[in-house]
Amino acid sequence: MADVDNNENTKTVDDTKKDKVIKFSDLGLGTEVLKAVTSSGYETPTDIQAQAIPALLRGEDLLGQAQTGSGKTAAFALPAIQNLKFDKTVEVLVLTPTRELTQQVVDEFTRLGKFKDTKVVTVVGGQPAYRQIELVNRGAQVVVATPGRLLDHLRSKKFKRFSPSLVILDEADEMLDMGFIEDIKKIFSYTPDDRQTVMFSATMPKAIRKLAEEEMNNPKTIMAKNSGERHKDIEQILYIVNRKERLDALVRLISSEDPEKALVFCRTRRDTDDVCIAITKRGIRARAIHGDMNQSARDQAMREIKQGTTKILVATDVASRGIDISELSHVFNYHAPDNKERYTHRIGRTGRAGKKGKAISIATPEDIRQHYFYKQQPMDKFKVEVIPSRTELKDKYQDKLIEKVNNIEIAPEAKEFFSQLSSESNIEEFFCRMFTCLQKSESVKGPNKIGLSIEEIKSLASRPQFSGSGRSGGRGGRGRGASAGGRPRRGAGGGRSSGGERRSTSSGGGRSSGGERRSSGSGGGRNASGGRRPGGSSPKRSSGGSRPQSSH
Ligand code: ADP
Ligand code: MG
Repeated sequence: MADVDNNENTKTVDDTKKDKVIKFSDLGLGTEVLKAVTSSGYETPTDIQAQAIPALLRGEDLLGQAQTGSGKTAAFALPAIQNLKFDKTVEVLVLTPTRELTQQVVDEFTRLGKFKDTKVVTVVGGQPAYRQIELVNRGAQVVVATPGRLLDHLRSKKFKRFSPSLVILDEADEMLDMGFIEDIKKIFSYTPDDRQTVMFSATMPKAIRKLAEEEMNNPKTIMAKNSGERHKDIEQILYIVNRKERLDALVRLISSEDPEKALVFCRTRRDTDDVCIAITKRGIRARAIHGDMNQSARDQAMREIKQGTTKILVATDVASRGIDISELSHVFNYHAPDNKERYTHRIGRTGRAGKKGKAISIATPEDIRQHYFYKQQPMDKFKVEVIPSRTELKDKYQDKLIEKVNNIEIAPEAKEFFSQLSSESNIEEFFCRMFTCLQKSESVKGPNKIGLSIEEIKSLASRPQFSGSGRSGGRGGRGRGASAGGRPRRGAGGGRSSGGERRSTSSGGGRSSGGERRSSGSGGGRNASGGRRPGGSSPKRSSGGSRPQSSH
């Protein structure tokens, strides 16, 4: 979709942008609002803000498309606050799909409206209705609501004054996806005909355009500049595995990527449980988040991930709605999303507000051949890579370990310990044991080789139905697809001499057998070498330890 807009004023903004950086003060906002912008730490408007704010201040209807994290909330909140008349009615209504999103919008309105004394009320399910009604009736200017609960209130006619001259649908595509269309239409019937209507959405499926046609007055369409090169801060990588390797692949990739915080997407609620339990068993701390989990359990999971006590959240598309964790470093597509729109939403959870993010998809050859999503988004649209083998990962850990050892400050006890030790022990042997001990605490599990090798990927990619030839739009840079898989991964192995070689060599033989084995096969090695002896056993004696294992 190109810029459909031909409104003069917007053009001016766009043209200006070519020449100089647009400032918030260029957009027509008043001093109180600008003060709030500054105190929020926003320096320059995002593209969607620069486009939307002047149009909204003029009272135009607007259909805005921009990826997640592009600052849509302030794009509508700032002009909405600026235009408030304080005429003792609800002037602004914002509808959002989930309780969590409602809260985010309320927070932003409250922050940006503080110098204009803006009163904002939340209307969502799961909270006492009378309290919400009371707060609205006490004279709120802004109501931020989920459709169901708001409609209940409107039907019961409990609001004294409710005539919003501005109605905003935030995350409109999500709301329609969740089946709120009828509720939304009914809500519109309770609002003035001459209202200003705004819709923001990350994607623009047909249903959105239809709703816009029905409910909006000659809406202007704007699209964030970067929507074309959407997700430019997100590296999108595809790993291809055999059917039974999916879980091993996830565990291996989480280990090798070591994400700060990640969201793992599964198809069903049950999958989220299964995956969560399975990866927890393998030593990765995770939480599942469910559509039908009660709110306090959801809040608890969210708190844990925000505080960092849990790094991995396993979710379905539905459950993930409204999750806003700004430091999400990775999104894993354990199962493919239903379609491209879903994919956009999923990966938009990372790479937010200019941060780099990684979107990692795990697919089987069958997925790529048959799944609707991979028909829309063939493998040559991704950077296809080979999953690091256990050996490679061990090398990587070793590098990290050495780096850590080199940088750590020496404890006074250590010197004391060393002086005792040196008189009676074989230092070399002791060092080797100690190193082995440290190394084992970060043992890599699972079969050595997981997923398809470069050769296999190449051969898959060369088949006509996978090559994307004929349908590949030749997306620059990323489009090299499978051939990109041939490059040794940068991260793995670092500078180590062992870093590059094995990728292709080790792959051939190991795969098919390795694939079925799962961790059980390799588990033997791990246990046998006594990897996880609890710290209790004294390092002093260093006696009786089995020989450091040689990696298998
Ligand atoms: P979206 O609704 O498009 O997903 P949000 O409105 O939630 O995006 O904004 C994403 C993040 O960017 C928020 O943390 C918000 O505070 C921040 N943000 C918004 N506008 C700006 C800006 N102009 N400069 C810096 N940060 C901003
Ligand atoms: Mg938003």
